[in-house]
Amino acid sequence: MEHATLETPRAGFWSKLALWKKILIGMALGMLVGGLLGPDAELLKPIGTLFLNAIKMLIVPLVFCSLVTGVTSMQDTRKLGRIGLKSLVLYLGTTAVAISIGLGMGTLFATGEGVNMAAADSAPAAGEAPTLVETLLNMIPTNPVDALATGNILQIIVFALGLGIALNLCGEKAKPAVQVFESLAEGMYKLTELVMKLAPYGVFGLMAWVAGTYGMDILLPLIKVVAVVYLGCVIHVMVFYTGLVSVLGRLNPVRYLKGLINPAAVAFTTTSSAGTLPASIKAAGEEMGVSKGVSSFVLPLGATINMDGTALYQGVCALFIAQAFGVDLAFSDYLLIIMTSTLASIGTAGVPGAGLIMLSLVLTTVGLPMEGLAIIAGIDRILDMARTTVNVCGDLMVSVLVGKSENELDESIYNRSRPATQPS
Ligand code: ASP
Repeated sequence: MEHATLETPRAGFWSKLALWKKILIGMALGMLVGGLLGPDAELLKPIGTLFLNAIKMLIVPLVFCSLVTGVTSMQDTRKLGRIGLKSLVLYLGTTAVAISIGLGMGTLFATGEGVNMAAADSAPAAGEAPTLVETLLNMIPTNPVDALATGNILQIIVFALGLGIALNLCGEKAKPAVQVFESLAEGMYKLTELVMKLAPYGVFGLMAWVAGTYGMDILLPLIKVVAVVYLGCVIHVMVFYTGLVSVLGRLNPVRYLKGLINPAAVAFTTTSSAGTLPASIKAAGEEMGVSKGVSSFVLPLGATINMDGTALYQGVCALFIAQAFGVDLAFSDYLLIIMTSTLASIGTAGVPGAGLIMLSLVLTTVGLPMEGLAIIAGIDRILDMARTTVNVCGDLMVSVLVGKSENELDESIYNRSRPATQPS
């Protein structure tokens, strides 16, 4: 409001608009202009390239700092020993399953097939990718500085995890270093926020180029991507999570689903698992009977490192981009995507849009064209709503399972059939 007198009503309207709305407008305008200009729309591509370069600039420092701080923030895992280990195994295991579902669905529905963007892009074939054994051996950097300089993401992840664990083991002595990484990570989050402000313009430039070169045919595949991500998310929660709750936890899965309603609604609308944390903690205690001791540790840890929905989305989108650009993926590429996404999920912040940056990381690792990112960026908010919801449902599922296995789950609350707002 305070800027109203300084700006034209139009500029005021634009600056007050939520980022995701601006991105959608950028996308729509880009398609319109691209459709009108035809091949000449290539002139607008540099605006998009600028945005893509800015995203690339973020990857190495963002992943490195947030991974180190992700690990150092888990110091409690040692104190809480068993609970920490159980949560960690469940979090990473379910993430690997999520991305496999994403890859499976992407293969099944072939969302990017027929889009044929290869002609306009050099589309580096991923066929040159090293074998899995080579990849595993190469994961440990002989020179971490070289890994950082050349942007070798897997090596960076391994080094960051190692450094984080080492800093934890040093205790008090490493505190200054931990604080440096924490404040650098904060700076990188801020820089990410600033770069994302460019997204509407970048998306405009790239969509104009895409629509100008390929016509409006791109729209249908994008609708398909949204549908496939949503379907995958529903399957992951309704089949996989409820299966785990009934088989591993020997609990009624319907009660788990009922308890999800409030936090899921918050997650869907805010697209932030960190922001949903208060609602998750409340639901875990009041609706699912998880003890405070377990939920107050497992849920914040989950909001930081557990991103099943994000991983699933990355699987679908990576395949969409590979198919659209005509890049053939080898079996080892699939494994590489699973590994990178699972490890990267530790470093994904529970804030809106973080998954898109992590998608750029997966694309870089597998050697897929970054232009694909801009196409996804246009519909990212819609996808973020679904994936954040799954992220939160996953955190709650793990809290229920860990609570049950530690005798920290009050089954009289869990099985209560009356609404939670009424006293039992
Ligand atoms: N918005 C997601 C979350 O907060 C992260 C993402 O962008 O995938 O869980």
